[in-house]
Amino acid sequence: MARAVVIGGGIGGLTSGIALRRNGWDVTVLERAPKIDPVGSGLAIAANALKALDTLGLGDHIRTLSRIQGQVGIRRADGRWLVHTTPDAAEARYGDSVVLMLRATLMEVLADALGADQLRLGVGVSGVDAEEGIVHTEDGDLGADLVVAADGIHSKVRQTLFPEHPGPTYSGVTAWRGLIPRGDLDIRSTESWGKGLVFGVTPLAHDLVYVYATDVLPAGTVFGDEREELLRRFGDWHDPIPALLRAADPGMIIRNDVYSFDTPLPAFHRGKVALVGDAAHPMTPNLGQGACQAIEDAVVLAHLAGFPAGEEDIAHNGKERTLDGTHGGVRRADGGGGIDREGRGGAGASGEGDGGEWGHGRGALAGYLGAYTAARLGRTSKIVQRSMSICRMTKVRNPVAVWLRDFGVSLAARSMPDMMLRSMDEVLRWRPPVTAPASGPASDMGDRHPLQGR
Ligand SMILES: Cc1cc2nc3c(=O)[nH]c(=O)nc-3n(C[C@H](O)[C@H](O)[C@H](O)COP(=O)(O)OP(=O)(O)OC[C@H]3O[C@@H](n4cnc5c(N)ncnc54)[C@H](O)[C@@H]3O)c2cc1C
Repeated sequence: MARAVVIGGGIGGLTSGIALRRNGWDVTVLERAPKIDPVGSGLAIAANALKALDTLGLGDHIRTLSRIQGQVGIRRADGRWLVHTTPDAAEARYGDSVVLMLRATLMEVLADALGADQLRLGVGVSGVDAEEGIVHTEDGDLGADLVVAADGIHSKVRQTLFPEHPGPTYSGVTAWRGLIPRGDLDIRSTESWGKGLVFGVTPLAHDLVYVYATDVLPAGTVFGDEREELLRRFGDWHDPIPALLRAADPGMIIRNDVYSFDTPLPAFHRGKVALVGDAAHPMTPNLGQGACQAIEDAVVLAHLAGFPAGEEDIAHNGKERTLDGTHGGVRRADGGGGIDREGRGGAGASGEGDGGEWGHGRGALAGYLGAYTAARLGRTSKIVQRSMSICRMTKVRNPVAVWLRDFGVSLAARSMPDMMLRSMDEVLRWRPPVTAPASGPASDMGDRHPLQGR
């Protein structure tokens, strides 16, 4: 059986493990932490990621956790709406609204779906030989046909594979996150923008409220009492923000400086290694897409990696897998010509591999990893950039510039009532690839490319 070693047991790593395992891979996920212990916060799982989770049989369970209702959107510090929509409108447009859930719950669902035998906790990876597919750990070396590097924003694997890349840069904002008991407060999902400040409020299951906030600060700023800092900034904002902050347990508030890529990687793979999630494309949280993109990555990678132990791939030994699930030349994500073994576009890529005991020889491996880069690099780079441009809008502090920003957003919303949703079409209309018979029609998606939106 073909073996995949996944480095990192975060959302990207666990989802990759589940998706590969469903395709018959022998999967080991290595996580250096002794237990899966995500930061205590909420997480938005949007329509695109829900569709990806559907392919793993997990989407419907996640949907039952949704608590979002009423108007959602962006407000000013005094509570006036700048732009808003409703979960129903999102559902009508994308077939799903967003699910706001505890990060810990998602991790639990993913860890359960992966299976305890596949997850090795407390195992740190110290290095990778990308060409040979060898993962060095404190407990010895592991050989793999595919290595998935899901080791997060400060990925050591990425630094080893792409030493020339500058890495993530500080976005200029720091972010607080916290979980607060709802009490008898009336909570709606909103995000409010002030002068260089953002405050978000979201109801969760178990009568909890997830709050997040950002401010423009130098990287590495240290505070003695994070709740006091929040009260100082947001204590006179619209309801229920002050009451929530007063009810917060200071020990339940965490803060991280926010980093993002200014420069995309040249590829998401090298040798036998594929990068997923924040290791590949760290982004600011302004679109709530970091984890969603990690989930998309995982599902696309597993789809392209195929079914190594299945008859289908053995029958097509040495042939590369296309984005529509068929075999033969590898197509670009835009449905155009082939991709060469390094993942660069070109018309002449063929499926010749050096074979192997199963369907993915070295050549085939390079082919599907090239297809993975082609499918994911452009899309995620755009989302990284869009997240950063919203981040820039929230960083504005000059009162005139703030007034102009708010006026511009509300004017655009008035002239185009579905603006808030429509602006997200490209992100949320994404659909996961559909596996089709080797020689049959591409999929039930007609001529449309499987990675394009409906
Ligand atoms: C304030 C904030 C709010 C956010 N809100 C949202 C949201 O609402 N929706 C959304 O989609 N995204 C959101 N995100 C982004 C999201 O949290 C990340 O994009 C996502 O968690 C990335 O997952 P990952 O698996 O790639 O990386 P990580 O979650 O960082 O996981 C990496 C894992 O690898 C392990 N690891 C690292 N090095 C090694 C090693 N050498 N050996 C073994 N294990 C190793 C780490 O311990 C860790 O468990 C938010 C981010 C922030 C900062």
